[in-house]
Amino acid sequence: MYHSDSQVHEREDLSKLPILALRRRREGLTKLLPPLGEILRGSLMERYLTCGNPNCKCTRGERHGPVWYLSVTLDQSHRTGCTVPAGQVEQVRSWIDNYQRAKDSLEKISDINRELLRRMKKADKTGKSGKRTRK
Ligand SMILES: [Zn+2]
Repeated sequence: MYHSDSQVHEREDLSKLPILALRRRREGLTKLLPPLGEILRGSLMERYLTCGNPNCKCTRGERHGPVWYLSVTLDQSHRTGCTVPAGQVEQVRSWIDNYQRAKDSLEKISDINRELLRRMKKADKTGKSGKRTRK
C-alpha cells in the first residue's frame, strides 16, 4: 500500500530565524515544487479479487491479482477510486509522490509566511506612525 496522507508535517520553530533566512527558504521551497500538473491525491493499493465463478480457483483462496487500485478519500464518509492498469502504476506512484511533496512544501511556505506576517505586525507596532492610510 502506498500512502499519501499518512505523513505528518514536521513543524520547526521559525521564530529564531532572521527574515532574510526565511525568505531564502521560501524561495528554495518554491523552486522545489514538483510540476503542479502532475499531481494525484490518493493511495495506491494492491488488491486480489474473486471473479464470481464458483468453479474458479479463486473461490478456494487463490485470488486473481494483483490488481492495482487508486483509493481516494473525498470526505469523512465518502471514498472513490479506480483500478490502475499495470503500465500506469509507476506514473500514478510518482504523481502521488508529487502531491505529497507539493503539499509538504505548501505547508512550509505557509508557515514561513505566517511567521513573516507576525514580524510585520511586530514592526508595525514598534515604529513608523502615519505611513499607512488604509481604512
Ligand atoms: Zn476466479
